[in-house]
Amino acid sequence: MKKLLYLSLMLVLAGACKQAEDKHVVVTGIDSTKNPGDDFFMYANGIWYDTVKIPGTQSGVGSYSFLNYPQRIRMQAILDSVAVATNAPGSIAQKVADFYRAGMDTATINQRGYDPVKPILAQVDAINSVASLLKFVAAQEQTGNSSILGFRVGPDMKRSSVNIVLLAQTGTGLPERGYYFKEDAPTVKVQDAYKKYVTTLFQLIGTDAVEAAKSSETVFKIERQFAEAHKTNIERRNVQANYNKLAVTEIAKRQPNINWPTLFADMGVQTDSLNMQQPAYYDKLNAMLKSVSLADWKVYLKAKTLTRYANVLSKPFSNAAFEYSKVLSGQAVRKPRGEEMTEAVDRALGHALAQLYVKKYFPQEAKKRMQVLVENLKTAFEARITKLDWMSDSTKAKAKEKLYAFTEKIGYPDKWRDYSNVQVSNQTYFENWLSVNRNEYDESVAKINKPVDRTEWHTTPPTVTAYNNPPLNEIVFPAGILQPPYFDLYADDALNYGGIGMVIGHEITHSFDDQGAQYDKDGNVKNWWTKEDYEKFKARTQQVIDQYNQFTVLDSVHVKGPLTVGENTADIAGIAIAYDAFKLTEQGKSGKKLDGFTPDQRFFISIARIWRVKTTDEFMRNYVNTNSHSPARWRVNGPLMNFTPFYTAFGVKEGDKMFKPESERIVVW
Ligand SMILES: [Zn+2]
Repeated sequence: MKKLLYLSLMLVLAGACKQAEDKHVVVTGIDSTKNPGDDFFMYANGIWYDTVKIPGTQSGVGSYSFLNYPQRIRMQAILDSVAVATNAPGSIAQKVADFYRAGMDTATINQRGYDPVKPILAQVDAINSVASLLKFVAAQEQTGNSSILGFRVGPDMKRSSVNIVLLAQTGTGLPERGYYFKEDAPTVKVQDAYKKYVTTLFQLIGTDAVEAAKSSETVFKIERQFAEAHKTNIERRNVQANYNKLAVTEIAKRQPNINWPTLFADMGVQTDSLNMQQPAYYDKLNAMLKSVSLADWKVYLKAKTLTRYANVLSKPFSNAAFEYSKVLSGQAVRKPRGEEMTEAVDRALGHALAQLYVKKYFPQEAKKRMQVLVENLKTAFEARITKLDWMSDSTKAKAKEKLYAFTEKIGYPDKWRDYSNVQVSNQTYFENWLSVNRNEYDESVAKINKPVDRTEWHTTPPTVTAYNNPPLNEIVFPAGILQPPYFDLYADDALNYGGIGMVIGHEITHSFDDQGAQYDKDGNVKNWWTKEDYEKFKARTQQVIDQYNQFTVLDSVHVKGPLTVGENTADIAGIAIAYDAFKLTEQGKSGKKLDGFTPDQRFFISIARIWRVKTTDEFMRNYVNTNSHSPARWRVNGPLMNFTPFYTAFGVKEGDKMFKPESERIVVW
């Protein structure tokens, strides 16, 4: 059943059948009754879009992040097989298998109810002063029960070879600050669901209905106070404003109620300085430690503990968590337990599971092909920099230096992450998580003020994603994205350059978007622009903001131009770079039609095909509020309406909905 579902799904997703002999893939799902110049996304994907159904267990279907669904089915097959094998104690296979088995053992989990968190709740009950509250917070932080501290360890933005302590704003439960203040119907629906969720959790630990509802209101009020001090996700794009390197002695004076020296000692953190990324939050926390009553704080900390662990406890708790998440995702029913637990193993021991995954699913040839593609894309980008008419030669030289200082990671890490300190048994799902969290915390703390490990990966290899990490000046393409429709060893260059080529161009451009452009070739936030060139660059990114602000998503919902500007810039330039690189290939030069399409047309169809997704409205609403990417349709139509070769390829003319006069077509890079 699962296999069949998987196969048919892959066919729908790839929309393709392989014909290895002539090395090309037939693209299906195109709606040729539509005019490509009106809505290219629906032209290239229309038949697929109109016929595909979103499975009840998912919030969407198609490629990109939704391709993680078939990925999970592959990973689950691995887990199902190691779970019945005999594995050497302490081996990767044993840890992965037992973590999965413990999670699948719902009889034990349900029978334990909320016993696992009772000791934590008892500790909350014992809090009798701000000092003991902070002791509780410090202890819980170490096993992953984070509440009022946004503690992390990462590169110092201005000295990126060294890790420092980072403190970010936190404390809230809703997806973004705006959810606490907006009064429109969809937002109120989310607020109500969240309050109901917290109420239910209190009832599940024996609080009566009236008291539980009151507690939920208390939690919401505390969180709303935090949210008042939060920066919006648009404000947080300001790289410089997130850099506030402060001495611990300084913050000890500035926020005396937090008692930082004692807190850090209790957390096992040794440092003289740190980056307080959003100080307004900690100023507010400092004040609230006095203004909010201890009784209310205790309610809040209980709620934080319960929401943190609801998914790891018995069914009534995890169901309550699902009922809330449903309002944000539109996912109709819970995933089968096996799929949920595959996600859990990927989160907890992802680099262990990945070792088993890549052995089975990642062809070494893919890595070699990718290295060639990345080199070709870099060459194409260099040529575009040379041709830019708005940039001076001195800035161009610096940009090229940065381009050639890049490193790329492809497939999976050279050095796997070590889980030897993680204890896993097949009986204790909750405690397995504590051990995973403890290990992560200990690893973080050990890195403070130490050199950055350049071999680390910030995603698991089977994940369908790619990223640019500015402090390391690196781009990363995990095994998960090196598969159709992005990358296909059997496909023609048009599809691969319009697929993974576009993704590579996109990731390279992140080093030169509104944020990336502020990092130098060594990954430090340091200006390398002339003043005049930087002004011109900003004027161009402003054009991107203004244009994308106009795009409609649902009813009155528009793309948020200032939130998505970095991604949109990367899409606009990414397509251009991939196209230039494609034009250097034999197929790109040939003009020879395949399946009735010119090479250029196939390149653009591939762009639309890699963002072929269909989602629930709930998912899309939350996505637009919180995600820095534009929705799929605008990741296709947005860049293409700015790209003249697209007009030529499909004969787009005045009067077509995507048409823009040449003077309005934006070129940043
Ligand atoms: Zn991106």
